[in-house]
This record gives sequence, C-alpha cells and structure tokens, in this order.
Amino acid sequence: MKNAATDAGVNQALLKALIAILGAKGFLQNSDDCEKYVRGARYGEGRALAVLRPDSHEQVEQVVRLCAQFAQAIVLQGANTGLVAASTPDDSGRLMVLSLERLKKHLQIDPVNRSVEVDAGYSLQELNDALLEHGLFFPIDLGANPSIGGMIAANTGGARLIKYGDVRHNLLGLRAVLMHPAGDTVDAMKALRKNNTGPDLKQIFVGSSGAYGIITRAVLQVHRLPQQSATALIVPRDQAAVLTLLQHFEQHCGDFLSAFEGISGAAFASVIKHIPGIANPFAPEALPDYCVLLELSSSADPVSSGLQLEDFLTRQLEVLFGDVIDNAIVGRGKDLWRIRHAISEALRHEGKMIAFDISMPRSALVAFREQALAILAQDYPYLKAADFGHWADGGCHFNLIWPHDAKLTYDVALVQKLRTQIYDLVVHEFQGSFSAEHGVGPYNLAFYHRYVPRAAQNLAGQMQALLDPQNLLGLTRFAFSEEPN
Ligand SMILES: Cc1cc2nc3c(=O)[nH]c(=O)nc-3n(C[C@H](O)[C@H](O)[C@H](O)COP(=O)(O)OP(=O)(O)OC[C@H]3O[C@@H](n4cnc5c(N)ncnc54)[C@H](O)[C@@H]3O)c2cc1C
Repeated sequence: MKNAATDAGVNQALLKALIAILGAKGFLQNSDDCEKYVRGARYGEGRALAVLRPDSHEQVEQVVRLCAQFAQAIVLQGANTGLVAASTPDDSGRLMVLSLERLKKHLQIDPVNRSVEVDAGYSLQELNDALLEHGLFFPIDLGANPSIGGMIAANTGGARLIKYGDVRHNLLGLRAVLMHPAGDTVDAMKALRKNNTGPDLKQIFVGSSGAYGIITRAVLQVHRLPQQSATALIVPRDQAAVLTLLQHFEQHCGDFLSAFEGISGAAFASVIKHIPGIANPFAPEALPDYCVLLELSSSADPVSSGLQLEDFLTRQLEVLFGDVIDNAIVGRGKDLWRIRHAISEALRHEGKMIAFDISMPRSALVAFREQALAILAQDYPYLKAADFGHWADGGCHFNLIWPHDAKLTYDVALVQKLRTQIYDLVVHEFQGSFSAEHGVGPYNLAFYHRYVPRAAQNLAGQMQALLDPQNLLGLTRFAFSEEPN
C-alpha cells in the first residue's frame, strides 16, 4: 500500500540512514503497519511519513541527530493512550512518529531503596507485574495501560492521587535525549529522594507533552503493596454531603484514605447498560442520583496490627447514616472498581462524548457542578451529563454526551461555545484548571493560550525554542500566539 513516504520530495538519504540505524523491525512505512500509530485513543488522527521504533537509548540519540540534520519533525509516542492528541501526527503526512514501545530492556528493582530503574517503553502493567514479587507497586491507577515515558510526559494522575500523588511526586530521576544540541543526553538518573544541587532539571520533562526532549529511562519511587483495603459504595444525602463525607474520613482516617471517587447516576447507568457482567449493586433499589466509591488501604497486616479496615469503615459509615448518607455497600472492592474503570468505555456507546478534564479547589466542586448543570439545562437541554470525578484531589471529569438520537445533530461550533462557557466558569469563577490530568496537546492548545498567563506561556515558549529551535518535536507550541490553533 502507498504511504506518504513514497510521495515525491521525501529525502531518500534520510530514509536510508534511518533504516540503517533501526533495521527492518524499527522502521515502518507501509500504511497498514503505521495504522495503529496514527490514531489517538480519543482524539487525533493523521498520516505518518514513517514510524521509527528504536530499541535502545543509543538508537534514539542517533535518530534524533539525523532528524535535526535533515530538519525532520517527529511526534513522540508511548502507548498512545493520551487524550489530548499529542502522540499522533497531523494530516500533513510530513511528520514521523517516534515510538518508544520497543525501548524495554532495562528494569532493575532496588527493594531496599524502594525504587526502580525502568526503560521508557515498559507499560505500567509490565512494571507492576515485575514489582509484585517484591511486594511493591507503582501506585498510579487508571483505566488504561500507558508507558512509563508517556506517563512522565503527561504527568498522569489517576484515582489514588490523594494517597500517593501523581507521577511527578514519584519520579526520582530520568534520562532524556535532546533535540538541541542534537542527540545530547541529560542524565539525571540518581535514585535520590533529596538532591538539592541546582535546578531540578528532570521536572522540565514532566507534563511537557513530549515537547522538550525524549525520555528514555526513569527512576521511580515505588510503594509497599497494601496488605488490606476496604471499599464502599456510598450514597450521600445530597451533593453537599459528599464534601462532609470527605472531611469526615480525612479527619478520622486520613492516613488510610486512598480513593474518593464521585460517580453520577447517568455514568453509573451507562456502565450497567453497556458493560456485560455488571449489574446494579443497589438492586432491588434503583440506582442513586450520585454515589461515592471510597477506599481505605494500609500496608499494616490485619493480624499482627489488629487493624481491621473493613470493620473500621463500617463503624464510620454507621456514624454518618441518616444525616450524611442514605445507603452504603461495603466490600466487593474488585467489583466496585470495575464499575469505576468501565465508565469511559460505557459512555462511548451513548453518543458523542464531550469530555472536560478539569480541577478546582475541592470546596468549589459542589457549586461548580450546580452552575454547570444549570448552564446545560438552559442552553443545551439535549446534552446528557454523565460526570464522575476524583473529589479528593479536586478533579472532575465533567463528561457530557451528545446522544446519538438527539434531535439536533452534533455541531462543532456549538461544542466549542460550550467548552468556552464551562472553562470560563472553571478558570475565572472557581480558580480551577482546564486540564487537570491529561496535559496540553493540539486538542486543547487554544484553551492553553486562552487561560495560561501570558508570561508563563512566553517562558515555556522560550524553553521550547532553546531545546527545539527548529520546531521538530511534536505539535504543541507553548509560546503565546494570536493564531487560532
Ligand atoms: C481509558 C483511559 C483512561 C485514562 N485515565 C486517566 C486517568 O485517570 N488519569 C490520567 O492522568 N490520565 C488518564 N488517561 C490518559 C493517558 O492514559 C495518560 O495521559 C498516559 O500517561 C499517557 O501515556 P502513554 O504512554 O499512552 O503516552 P502517549 O499517549 O503515547 O503520549 C502522551 C504524551 O507523552 C509524549 N511522550 C510519550 N512518550 C514519551 C517519551 N518517552 N518521552 C517524551 N515524551 C513522550 C507524547 O508525545 C505525548 O505528548 C486515560 C486514558 C484512557 C484511554
């Protein structure tokens, strides 16, 4: 099958040199082979001149030198689960994808230091499989299986951030290849929790959307696997009671609180309707309008410590019954988490998703939800809110569905207007963020330019100009621009 790389004008010397470095397995050109690399998990679809798949740090250095020499633009890709179109090429057919998926040779665990050195191409699941025999895990919890490099570049959050922090909090070191000076390596691979020897350069790459350099290896702090956990699905009296519940658990067992996830009735109903094997856990009662998935966990062994988290959780819920909560199911942790992790997939069946990955101070979440739902009822009554969120860290996936059977057909301009209305509310009214965990990429670059202060955009842009003066890394340009993106 013909691919963009066979079009006239492509530098044959560059292609030849890349093939010589990467070999047949490391260089894909055929459009069938490139297919999975050019379409993002939710957004982003384009064409690639070629897909480059180095399997060593040295190959990455060589490829980057060539790209700089030939002014060949590349977009970096890990597991391609990102949600802001930052890991796929545009439709110009001029970009190459640099996939790090084969960069997985080195994985070295130090159980005493509670750290691991790991190549960027390993997946989260592969890392956790290896850590299991040491009773350790990397605690970023999400419904996808991203790569280590992609998680650093996106600073992944997930459902257990309240206890363990995001990727940034657990990153001890990294190694990255620079586009300028071409092929130079920044080696910051120390497995240290304290190291105050000048600016912490590894942080530049965290949440950088692949715009500052290519991460090839990392040192991560890992954690003891919990010896026990207790999970409950709780029906709060009303929305305000969600925050009362959160405060109560932080006050009485904050050390154990590892997740506090809100789930709207519509999101829940969608899971039951579309995901086989999941039934209403409240049956014969109807699904509630809103519920909270709460998890306590501890590395204390229940027998030797005498701590029985499930009993403890039950007692706390009994105290709150009537005033703060109407109903609760305790136990069945695996089943309850399955419901939570199935929401994104279920919603796709309902219609076209309009996703908002936002955050704000927790104290603002109730008022935000009330005002945002009022905007929907008044201006967009055909949209269905199916939101869910990480209430403990102020995160809210205010996801809306444009139903397949809506009278009005999907309208891009209307969605753009709605986005601006919601983001204005989040950023201006509630001092929140328009991108809580998914980062910045072509998909939301226009909002980055709208909401991030001008001086911050200019500084990020100057750093980008220093590290990538030819604009060869990805499609995310941080410098302020009047141009619509
Ligand atoms: C079902 C589902 C649920 C999700 N849930 C969550 C969630 O709860 N919390 C959350 O934070 N995210 C979530 N995500 C988003 C996504 O999983 C994360 O952003 C993830 O960390 C991306 O990793 P990746 O390996 O897939 O990276 P990719 O998607 O391949 O790339 C993401 C970004 O990183 C860059 N990049 C990739 N590898 C490197 C590298 N080696 N060096 C430099 N830059 C690189 C890319 O250019 C791109 O800008 C979810 C996604 C899905 C599909």
